[in-house]
Amino acid sequence: MIDLAVRHFALPLRHPFTISRGTVEVQDTVIVQLHEDGCFGYGEATTNPYYGATVESLSRRMSDATPLLRGVGADDLDAMLTAIRAAAGDDMFACCALDAAVHDLWARRQGLPLHRLWGLDPAAGPASNYTIGIDTPDRMVRKLAEVPDWPIYKIKLGTDRDLEIVRELRRHTDKPFRVDANCGWTPRQAIELSAPLAELGVEFIEQPLAVADPGMAEVRRHSLLPVFADESCGVESDVEACAGLFHGINIKLVKCGGLAPARRMIARARALGLAVMCGCMTESTVGISALAQIVPELDHVDMDGAALLAGDIASGVVVERGLRRYPDRAGMGIELVDGPLPRA
Ligand code: MG
Repeated sequence: MIDLAVRHFALPLRHPFTISRGTVEVQDTVIVQLHEDGCFGYGEATTNPYYGATVESLSRRMSDATPLLRGVGADDLDAMLTAIRAAAGDDMFACCALDAAVHDLWARRQGLPLHRLWGLDPAAGPASNYTIGIDTPDRMVRKLAEVPDWPIYKIKLGTDRDLEIVRELRRHTDKPFRVDANCGWTPRQAIELSAPLAELGVEFIEQPLAVADPGMAEVRRHSLLPVFADESCGVESDVEACAGLFHGINIKLVKCGGLAPARRMIARARALGLAVMCGCMTESTVGISALAQIVPELDHVDMDGAALLAGDIASGVVVERGLRRYPDRAGMGIELVDGPLPRA
């Protein structure tokens, strides 16, 4: 019989992390652990005020899966996924953590890495960017200088000095940039900024406008850089609407409810001719190891979450200088630093 434990961790960040909406210094996160016959499965969802995810709501929804999972076997992936969807309801963050834990447990019981069970080559897929949060241009340059070996940098924008920031950073590296305005621009700003940003070696723009901004089609038509949806592409049903408004989508496991929906979104996006990126929150290695399982299927990835932390709570897939190193372990390869959670 599957048992379930949930625990909240506070993850201190290496630097306060600022985007156009606010600053985070400590990231609260909730870990769910499934256990059957000596095999464990782990999943994670961070809290997020923008999406209404709190420690209490996440813990409650995850715990709600206990009776439903007790009725199914850990070798029946579809039955477990149906059970956790029923428990999580419309809470995609909780669903994501449960979905990862279910996949992890299922793969561990078969003694193979999850990506191998899907037929994916871990050596395939893009290198990750490293994200530079909003700060004074000087401090952003210092953050960049701390991590000189990453192959791509994602720069958070949405300030009144965006061009100055990118120009200043460009003086210190030749590596490609991508920028993320997190809904912070007007259509006119997005179109006007696209030309100088392209000249400065920016490869694409993530979420220039607010989600419902009617100017997005015009931005897609006139921007000199490809535009990717992040906040505009949350769940599976959003993918369709992104075709025609964006060149690509940024899937996040917490937004869409986990690996199973994310893989369906990738397939749908491909059919619609959209490029596919996956992103992360500031998750620990638990969440990053889940994301690592699907990276071979992507065009771009932002999986620096654990690298932005001052300390980690788990070992698993390591991302260093943008490259993934998978542990030689079954499932998603996760082990909590302090050992398994006590049973509830
Ligand atoms: Mg984004």
